[in-house]
Amino acid sequence: MQKYDVVIIGGGPAGLAAAIYAARAKLTTLVLEKDEAGGRILGSREIDNYPGYFGDVSGPVLMAKWREHALYCGAEIVQETAESLDLASEIKTINTEENTYEAAAVILCPGVPKENSLKGEKTFMGRGVSYCVNCDATFFEGLSTAVAVYNDHGMEEAIFLTRFAKEVYVTIPFNKSDEKVSEELLKEAQANNKIKLLWHTNIIEIQGDAMVNKAIIQNMENNEISGLEVNGVFLFPELTASTAFLAGQVELDSKGYIKVSEKMETNLAGVYAAGDGTHKFLRQVVTAASDGAIAAVAAEKYISKLKK
Ligand SMILES: Cc1cc2nc3c(=O)[nH]c(=O)nc-3n(C[C@H](O)[C@H](O)[C@H](O)COP(=O)(O)OP(=O)(O)OC[C@H]3O[C@@H](n4cnc5c(N)ncnc54)[C@H](O)[C@@H]3O)c2cc1C
Repeated sequence: MQKYDVVIIGGGPAGLAAAIYAARAKLTTLVLEKDEAGGRILGSREIDNYPGYFGDVSGPVLMAKWREHALYCGAEIVQETAESLDLASEIKTINTEENTYEAAAVILCPGVPKENSLKGEKTFMGRGVSYCVNCDATFFEGLSTAVAVYNDHGMEEAIFLTRFAKEVYVTIPFNKSDEKVSEELLKEAQANNKIKLLWHTNIIEIQGDAMVNKAIIQNMENNEISGLEVNGVFLFPELTASTAFLAGQVELDSKGYIKVSEKMETNLAGVYAAGDGTHKFLRQVVTAASDGAIAAVAAEKYISKLKK
């Protein structure tokens, strides 16, 4: 049994930022990360919206610095998956396949699952496939794009993308009558001459050479398959958080996101959460880092009180 002041579950931007703050506060700090530490941003070839970086840094390069920083501050990072937890007791227990850890405080930073279920999606991730208009729209200035829309969030992103792209094909796998997209947004999209709405249509494959040049789409009514000549494909599936392993432990919202207070506290004393896996408005590196810092400072204050 290994004991730490803080165990952080997930080594993406939120977890690494939390590790830097916790370790700098002289808390013994362990990060459990099931893959390579760095999180989903490792899939980005170019980050354009993290303050101080514009077009000259990739996800892997930025995250290598964050890993190095966390280790420099004294945090440990191990490649293990948190499988079962006991978070309700004062001493928290975290089990991985290899070890059992005890901690005074736990910071949950599991993010959302990594995508890549479509044919070609993984190959062209960062080479024309994107999940974030805020992050990548500027790369598609004057170009043709397709956006897979399932709900209001996707439609909002498609409308925003028209400020940059020459044309935006919006695929929607439902009928208008299914009302998955609100009437108000639909009207806005219909009035926008850059948007071409393709009802009852799904993107089923992404093709290209060095970069994306085609989205293969399927009409769900007649199964007809055709191709859209596009330079970019934005995917907005209905994301659910990677929190199945937390069920019955902390309070989650209806989509599985962890409910937190402004101090990143969950409903359990000594248990905090940060980043994309929490119920929040904006899922980005900068907000994940901010959440992680807040969670670590809140955890430090909690542990200090425990030790008094
Ligand atoms: C291709 C791509 C490009 C993007 N571009 C940008 C951009 O330009 N700018 C921007 O701000 N944002 C961008 N984003 C969004 C950004 O990556 C996320 O907002 C950010 O990574 C969230 O950080 P996080 O730490 O909360 O979660 P994640 O990055 O998802 O990290 C969570 C980590 O937890 C690990 N984990 C999950 N469960 C467990 C478990 N049980 N045990 C151990 N480890 C676990 C996962 O393996 C993962 O590494 C992009 C995302 C993608 C996919």
